[in-house]
Amino acid sequence: METRRKAPCGQAASVGVPVGCVRIAKAALRYCTCVVLLSENVRKYIYMMKKISRRSFLQVCGITAATAALTACGGTAAQEMQSIQVFAMDTVMDLTAYGENAAAALTDASREINRLERLLSRTIDTSEISQINAGGAVTVSEETASLLAQAQTYTAATDGAFDVTIAPLVSLWGITTDSPYVPTQQEIDALLPLVGSEHLHLSGDTATLDDGCAIDLGGIAKGYASDRVAAIFARHGITSGTISLGGNVYVCGSKPNGQPWVVAIQNPRSDGYAVTVALMDSFAVTSGGYQRYYTAPDGTVYQHILDPKTGYPVESDLLSVSILCDNGTMADAYSTALYVMGSAGAQAFWRTHGGFEMILITTAGQVLYTPGLSEKITPTEGSGYEYVSIHP
Ligand code: AMP
Ligand code: MG
Repeated sequence: METRRKAPCGQAASVGVPVGCVRIAKAALRYCTCVVLLSENVRKYIYMMKKISRRSFLQVCGITAATAALTACGGTAAQEMQSIQVFAMDTVMDLTAYGENAAAALTDASREINRLERLLSRTIDTSEISQINAGGAVTVSEETASLLAQAQTYTAATDGAFDVTIAPLVSLWGITTDSPYVPTQQEIDALLPLVGSEHLHLSGDTATLDDGCAIDLGGIAKGYASDRVAAIFARHGITSGTISLGGNVYVCGSKPNGQPWVVAIQNPRSDGYAVTVALMDSFAVTSGGYQRYYTAPDGTVYQHILDPKTGYPVESDLLSVSILCDNGTMADAYSTALYVMGSAGAQAFWRTHGGFEMILITTAGQVLYTPGLSEKITPTEGSGYEYVSIHP
């Protein structure tokens, strides 16, 4: 049995990589030896090092170095750039900020990410999500109640494609665990009735689940954390910075030289990126089957996003979905949901709902992008993909 994280934890799914700097970044891998880690993350960092391959780790560090090399690409504030790497929410996170308050902003951001992990992780026994999953009527913080209410809104909007009550099936399959398992149809059928947002009852600050049900915020928590970090950056007056929380990217303001940031969308089929997008003040969240998956002994690949209607890992005509908008929580929920919907469903959803830009990379070898991105994207030469604007 083999479980793999190609880009560890989706880290490279969409990253703030200044394209012109890639060569410089590679030469700057020495940054790997001096990444800044907060002491409270050291334990998790050692755990992470055990879990991911050295090659993957270097990819992660390469990203850090790429960000660190921004100054060479046109910034003039080298001395003001600060970066930090955090391991939380089962993923490597890179944060960079410029300006006189950069260090304070990054410290606060790191604390906030750790606080949110303690609040929202279902693998931490004391988290509010674990308490809800343990059963009974649970008094939760206003913050958790509000995030759960948002999750239910996204469930309704996506006709159930995004659903945090998918947890029992996520546990059954265990795709992202050390012991993944291919269940029988009978086992899946037994759990499917437990999935559905009607099983989660919210009333003020009280959350209650129906018997046997559970919730998993893995599809939305990093997006929410990115919103919180963006707010912290704003509070500290940061006008230039990037964060990459797994596949969840936020670019704050512009590069120090006033140019837009360039976010690279991972090529799901190989190393490198399929397309880049010039962005300012935007979230860019990618979901894909290539990020975390399990290859069964018979060679079948099962990836980590499940279809709540069937209880099976999604078999989509999409390799990845990237959502770009000004709301990290929504971008995270939608990237998961639209991956479940497949290419036609995702396009129909965008036409109906709007309010975001998107890039779909399909199994047929196309990079489909919403027309609002036409001036912002740069195809990767020689990638073999066909780049097509989605019809409004
Ligand atoms: P993401 O990487 O944001 O697309 O989230 C994927 C994670 O969300 C998985 O690893 C599961 O923990 C959880 N998940 C899987 N399928 C769904 C789904 N259909 N709706 C909500 N969360 C899901
Ligand atoms: Mg998501």
